[in-house]
Amino acid sequence: MAVQRVAVIGAGAAGLCAARHILSRLNRFAPPVVFELSDTVGGTWCYDERVGTQSSIYRDLRTNLPKEVMMFPDFPFDPQLDSFLPHQEVRRYLERYCRSPDLRPHIRFNTLVEKVRPVVMTEEEERTTSWEVTSSDALGCQTTETFDSVFVCSGHYSDPHIPHIPGMDRFKGQVLHSHSYRCAEPFSGQSVVVLGAKASGLDISIELAGVGAQVTLSHGQPRLTFPLPAGVQQSSPVVAVEEDGRLRFQDGSEAAADVLMFCTGYNFRFPYLDGPELGLQIQDQLISPLYRLLMPPAFPSLFFIGLCKQICPFPNFHCQVLFSLAVLDGSVSLPSRVRREDEARRALLEKAERGVQQRHLLVMQQEEQWEYCRTLARVAGFPPLPPVVRSLYEEVWRQRRVHPQNYRRRNYRLIGDDRWEQIN
Ligand code: FAD
Repeated sequence: MAVQRVAVIGAGAAGLCAARHILSRLNRFAPPVVFELSDTVGGTWCYDERVGTQSSIYRDLRTNLPKEVMMFPDFPFDPQLDSFLPHQEVRRYLERYCRSPDLRPHIRFNTLVEKVRPVVMTEEEERTTSWEVTSSDALGCQTTETFDSVFVCSGHYSDPHIPHIPGMDRFKGQVLHSHSYRCAEPFSGQSVVVLGAKASGLDISIELAGVGAQVTLSHGQPRLTFPLPAGVQQSSPVVAVEEDGRLRFQDGSEAAADVLMFCTGYNFRFPYLDGPELGLQIQDQLISPLYRLLMPPAFPSLFFIGLCKQICPFPNFHCQVLFSLAVLDGSVSLPSRVRREDEARRALLEKAERGVQQRHLLVMQQEEQWEYCRTLARVAGFPPLPPVVRSLYEEVWRQRRVHPQNYRRRNYRLIGDDRWEQIN
């Protein structure tokens, strides 16, 4: 059987995971070709103090998951480290992951993928497709090569999502998105309205309060009942900016502010893909339809790794990569194209009928991600994630809601596959 050529776009955690597992199957696959636009591996985890770069990591960020569940299941973090890590340690971990086996010879650094185009060879119901990948290197030299499949691992935390607020141009203070936030000190003594109370909104509010900023955490969730630091008050969402530049909130109240900080998430951006050509709608907050949240139903050799939100990222990437490779090597037999399409649409419709807003359709609910990973493992025949990943992940979620300021002080230890203990 001829070996398949696979292109991997991006050398962040998802792309490295794909490359590692392709390289371990050289009887079926040629060594991968990984395209990486920067000069290094690690993607998001490469902190850059300059703003406007790919990374959204801020200076004092610590992981919001303990290393015991954040790790790829086949590659632990250094056991000497604490459970919650500064971002530098995650980067080091990914560099180590990249050396064992050595993936670097397969990565083309400073190379931007500009276009990925399917070349349909047979127009039967089950098409045979190959892929033309056009990239350009640091010197601007453009190359087009053909692959049997493509793993899309270019991330989705670099294009800030900024909701429309009527009258925004009247706001006289500083406006920024968490993507451009690096550290708290410049905001000392300022009044800052932080819009959005998910992971970044909450963490940044706590950092800002720590340097004496007056923070208004403006969000549309039910009122947070856990203790917030002195200096952080909650409000309803900002709905408009008044003539005089004051912010108006949904409950009718108004306030002046020095800074408006959007912690409102990110848009999907795949400038190198043509959605309609692939039968996909690529919107800011949703890509659909995707069979098993992974592939366009009409093109089961194009895989999006790590699109879903509110997941345990590295273990999820691991399961998606192993499933995708099982599709490619034929050990998973897929239903017909029509059924793939139908299943993908039905899955989203069911969520929408349960009241999930369109922009949250790729957000996994608590139970959903475990069921999803379990199904991928069962269908493709690889070991499922150990139960301890879920139980510790859920424990940390609970702790985060009760002690958002100090849940990271705890350390954990795994005891086998199904138990953990807190060690301090
Ligand atoms: P990325 O890390 O973004 O990598 C994508 C790579 O693709 C980049 O290297 C980029 O240069 C490259 N690329 C993009 N476009 C192209 C192109 N056209 N051609 C070539 N290369 C391209 N996860 C956790 O598990 N724990 C945490 O505590 C945690 N905290 C987070 C905090 C913040 C603020 C953010 C933003 C994310 C956090 N995450 C966390 C999620 C994190 O993003 C994932 O863990 C993971 O690192 C994402 O990896 P990725 O490979 O999908 O994307």
